[in-house]
Amino acid sequence: LLASAAGSSLENAYLHQQSKQEIFNLQLINETSHCLNSNLRLVDTMTYMSEQIISSIDAQEVGFFLFTNEHAKVKILPGSTPYFYTPQAKIYIDYLKGKIEREKNPLFIGDFDIQTIKNTPSFHSILAVPMIHSEKLKGFSIVMHQKPYFFSFDTFKLLQSLIHHSSLALTNSMLREELEHMIITDHLTKLYSRKFLDERIQRSMKESGEGTFILLDIDNFKEINDTYGHQVGDQVLVQVATLIKNNIRGEDIGARWGGEELALYLPGVPLDKGAAVAGRLVKKIAESSEPHITVSCGVSYWNKEQVDAYNFLFKRADEALYIAKGTGKNKVVIQEQNIRVS
Ligand code: GH3
Ligand code: MG
Ligand code: MG
Repeated sequence: LLASAAGSSLENAYLHQQSKQEIFNLQLINETSHCLNSNLRLVDTMTYMSEQIISSIDAQEVGFFLFTNEHAKVKILPGSTPYFYTPQAKIYIDYLKGKIEREKNPLFIGDFDIQTIKNTPSFHSILAVPMIHSEKLKGFSIVMHQKPYFFSFDTFKLLQSLIHHSSLALTNSMLREELEHMIITDHLTKLYSRKFLDERIQRSMKESGEGTFILLDIDNFKEINDTYGHQVGDQVLVQVATLIKNNIRGEDIGARWGGEELALYLPGVPLDKGAAVAGRLVKKIAESSEPHITVSCGVSYWNKEQVDAYNFLFKRADEALYIAKGTGKNKVVIQEQNIRVS
């Protein structure tokens, strides 16, 4: 009698524990779905997912990876733990990427056999789950622990549910950010669009005290196109854009003004410093472009004492550029010092 009573109470206790775990898992999935659907940005979506996974299943490392157009490479998504950015993680990422790409199935590995590299931890327990949206394989997630057989099969199922629920939110966040990026960047040069530049200048005129604007035009660009063809012309534009990007600070804005005219806005930078930036660019481009080209710059400036409408800033730079073109090119001309007020 006693044995049978003990047996059924053990069974009850076990069922009770199991249902408590099931409830916990459902709550977690529900909470995660709810949060993911509240229109978070990509970095927030992924950071949230990562935190949920680490806290609920005790993972040591969590990573999210996206297949890119160049199929040899995967992109590490924000929210991944720092370990995945180290060279040691590459062995795991490459192995799991290959396997998931071929088999398209989740992977449950209890004791991953990897030759330990000296002084680096090796991860034995590995869960990898593909991220699939609209029947397409978009990427995968990896969860790891150094101890062998650390994760249970229930944990594996829970992770699959979490990833399954997050795939739609992830795709939505990514599409939205891609769209935002397309609107603000120029396709060829990857510089900002003119619309974005306009907005930033207007904002800077409200928020900071001064700023320098540089309009840059490639000299005799028509000849480059006529001599080498349009494709080389495009490459020259990309070269100039890259030089600009590499020679400005984070808060400066490099933009495609239109055609072969590029523009730079340096918020909070006085005229003499801005003109020096333009001078350096003109010199660098003349020295390093291939095929050889030169550029001309018109520079204009505003400040709080003599603030004027922002379209006059463009107009003054354009006038200065016109003078540079008429007086030999390959040079910087600064706006007339008297700022006109509308
Ligand atoms: P200048 O020194 O007076 O600026 O002479 P320019 O030949 O550069 O000026 P012009 O305005 O006569 O010609 C500009 C040329 O730039 C004509 C146009 O075909 C070319 N261009 C504009 N946009 C692009 C582009 O995206 N790619 C290429 N390859 N050429 C472009
Ligand atoms: Mg030109
Ligand atoms: Mg032009």
